[in-house]
Amino acid sequence: MKTRVIGLTITAKVQRQSEKGDYERRLHKRLNGIAMPDAIKRLPLSEDGYPIPWFAQWFLDGKPGAVGVGKPDFRFPDRQKRYQSNDTQCWICGERLGEEKAFVAGSSIVRTRMVHEPPSHRERAIFAAKASPFICNPKMRRNRTNLPAEDLIINEDVSHPDTYCVWVTRRFTASRCSGGRKLWRLGDPDVVLWFSGGKEAKPNEGRGT
Ligand SMILES: [Zn+2]
Repeated sequence: MKTRVIGLTITAKVQRQSEKGDYERRLHKRLNGIAMPDAIKRLPLSEDGYPIPWFAQWFLDGKPGAVGVGKPDFRFPDRQKRYQSNDTQCWICGERLGEEKAFVAGSSIVRTRMVHEPPSHRERAIFAAKASPFICNPKMRRNRTNLPAEDLIINEDVSHPDTYCVWVTRRFTASRCSGGRKLWRLGDPDVVLWFSGGKEAKPNEGRGT
C-alpha cells in the first residue's frame, strides 16, 4: 500500500514536471529572462506562446464570444469585461486587486493623468510593460487586418510613444465615457516605473515631451 502511494506520488511529480517542460517549450522565446509572476504562469498560453491576458476578447468565426472558445485576440479587450471593469479585479490576471493599483500608460500620462485601461497588480503590469510585443516596439502599429465586423474598440494608445510607464497609485477616480469605456483620472503616484523597448528606463530616457 505504502509503495503504491509513493508510486502515485512519483507519477504525479513526473507529470507536473512534464507539464512544466511543455509550458516552457511553448512559451515564446522573447519571454526568456523576464520575471513571470505566478499569476501570469497560471494564464493559458496562446498559440504563439504568450500568456493570454484576462482582458483579451476571444473570437469564433470572426464573432466575439465566450472565453476559451475560438482564439483570443489581444488587440481587443473583452467588451463585457471592459464595461464591467472596476477597481477590484486585475485587468491582466483577473485576480483580486488590493488597495494599490498599477496603470500601464504611455508617457503622456504625466501630462494628462488620464487612462482608459483598467488597473492591474503592480508586478503583472511590469510584466506587461516588458513582455507585450506592442508596448516594447515603438515602431509597431496595431495589425488592422482581420478586424471583426463588430464595432469593437482596438486596445491602443494612439500616440504609441517610445516610453511607457507603470503608474502605481491608491488615488484615482473613474467615470464612464461613450461606448461603455471607462476613463480613469489618476492621483499622485506612490511610484512611477518607466520602460522603453521592454527594458527598465530612467524617468527621462527616450521620452519625447
Ligand atoms: Zn493581476
